[in-house]
Amino acid sequence: MVKTGLTMEHEYHAVIVGGGGAGLYAALELAQHSGLRIAVVSKLHPIRSHTGAAQGGIGAALGHAEEDFPEWHMFDTVKGGDYLADQDAVEILCTEAIDIVFELERMGLPFDRAPDGRIEQRIRAGGHTRNFGERPLARTLYAADRTGQMILHTLYQQCLRHAVDFFDEFEVIDLLFDDGRCTGVLAWELATGEVHTFWARAVLLATGGWGQIYKTTTNAVTLTGDGIAMAWRRGIPLEDMEFYQFHPTGIYKMGILLSEASRGEGVYLCNGLGERFMDRYAPTMRELAPRDMVSRSIHREIREGRGGGPNRDCVFLDFRHLPDEVRRAKLPEVLELIQTYVGLDPGRDLIPVRPTAHYAVGGIPTDVWARVVVDERNRVVEGLYAAGECACVSVHGANRLGTNSLVDILVFGRRAGRDMARVARERPASPRSAIPPSRALEDLSRLLKGDGRESHVRIREELRQLMDDQVSVFRIASGLQDALEKIHVLQERYAGARVADRGKIFNQDLLEAYETGCLLDVAEATVASALNRTESRGTHYREDYPARDDANWLKHTLLYRKGPGDYDFRYKPVVITRFPPRERTY
Ligand SMILES: Cc1cc2nc3c(=O)[nH]c(=O)nc-3n(C[C@H](O)[C@H](O)[C@H](O)COP(=O)(O)OP(=O)(O)OC[C@H]3O[C@@H](n4cnc5c(N)ncnc54)[C@H](O)[C@@H]3O)c2cc1C
Repeated sequence: MVKTGLTMEHEYHAVIVGGGGAGLYAALELAQHSGLRIAVVSKLHPIRSHTGAAQGGIGAALGHAEEDFPEWHMFDTVKGGDYLADQDAVEILCTEAIDIVFELERMGLPFDRAPDGRIEQRIRAGGHTRNFGERPLARTLYAADRTGQMILHTLYQQCLRHAVDFFDEFEVIDLLFDDGRCTGVLAWELATGEVHTFWARAVLLATGGWGQIYKTTTNAVTLTGDGIAMAWRRGIPLEDMEFYQFHPTGIYKMGILLSEASRGEGVYLCNGLGERFMDRYAPTMRELAPRDMVSRSIHREIREGRGGGPNRDCVFLDFRHLPDEVRRAKLPEVLELIQTYVGLDPGRDLIPVRPTAHYAVGGIPTDVWARVVVDERNRVVEGLYAAGECACVSVHGANRLGTNSLVDILVFGRRAGRDMARVARERPASPRSAIPPSRALEDLSRLLKGDGRESHVRIREELRQLMDDQVSVFRIASGLQDALEKIHVLQERYAGARVADRGKIFNQDLLEAYETGCLLDVAEATVASALNRTESRGTHYREDYPARDDANWLKHTLLYRKGPGDYDFRYKPVVITRFPPRERTY
């Protein structure tokens, strides 16, 4: 590391932004190549990444519990995504899932075991079926309900063993380019307030989701979309941002996730009248229909007066018929969450739940090697990659199935690492050009030194409430238009925001203020795309356009920002190989 003028400078073959499952797998893959110097630059210590919150498990067609094939997994993923997924990418997802699971096993991931010693696969997850939709199928692998934690620990240990360099609690704020090629990133070290430049031949964005645009969410407070905001501000389009998934079972009023693993173990959903209402909406799959459907069904029950609780605005998870030992052995984290946050006993009480913002289906467009692409013809940005929840490859189409995100981060994290290794070997070192004007540096300096009076905390709260109110499970043009206008007003107010803490050391106030700027941009992209798509598909349900419209909308949205409130939409065809669009019933 050398200090030159404004910044501390580092040079690596590859720089990975984010230490979640996607970032760590890419780092590990790169680190297998001797002579390559790899850095993971992460806002959090890697083990604290949101991947660690994943309780449900990983989906892979190993066929350990019952007969299964990657083709069945592929069909379920395509149908679950309401036929918007790119089927070439889905094929890679479902095929490589199998081998990657064994690779993790060899690295030491402590999967639960069946009595015969093989990896246990007993749990069913929403939308996963036998023989192209016949009935629910057990495809989930897990380490109790702590699978995500185990993934992070396993990968992190392996990265340390392979001498990957970690820069923890560094917030990456901008991308550097030279003649269209990505040459590195700018990062702000939270402990010191110093700005660092990381030069690299290949850069991966693995910054995770942005559920904090909503008030009621399962996502950690750190998931503020900084990575995709950074890319969008540098002219990279965002794909399919209108598709934001709501998980059906968040703890009432808190949004904390009660994993789908519960329903996979046989927990029921019932309304205020005690009815298992999913019979009405998905007679074959019932509670195990895909999340978009279950979330809409819950909202319908509540709207039609069949909700439960004093305000009739929730439904219930019913664990009471499950044997005590199943609850304790298979769902320890879920039970702990219920006891800690609602103080109820699942053996005796019904647990109140409501849909909660959960997963970013869209994101930074990439090809199947995780290379960032910038138009409908898949033109690649040299040296720039994206993988994991921040990316849109697109394997989830318009709605993600449970357990498929962990597969996605592993499969495409590994693919990113493989292609980055090739580039890092073939390409010469990046030229060190001058640091260009950076909106992020300007924002930080204004927030720290400006004399504005607006509270960034209030702006964030207003944004999140607005998104809950207008851009949730059900959407309509008037609400979306109103939300977009209000976001523009919040952005103007943000220009007059400042922080109370003016210090350099661990300035959390400044970090939160900076993140709020990112949230505003990401929410803007979500609403603009939702307003533009005049059909209902997967997680995007328009009350004014309730039908899926394949004639006009079987295509991906690419959203470019030309200026404040000024957008350019382009469309990318969906890759259909095996499964032409059909009606979606469960
Ligand atoms: C409560 C919960 C339960 C879930 N359960 C499941 C499940 O059972 N099965 C399943 O398939 N999926 C599940 N998901 C979804 C899945 O866990 C995530 O989609 C996935 O783990 C995302 O991994 P990632 O590597 O893309 O990002 P993350 O794990 O979120 O990591 C993002 C990383 O980026 C870093 N970062 C972000 N911004 C910056 C920046 N500006 N500069 C530097 N670093 C940055 C962070 O420090 C972090 O290390 C769940 C999600 C939640 C919220």
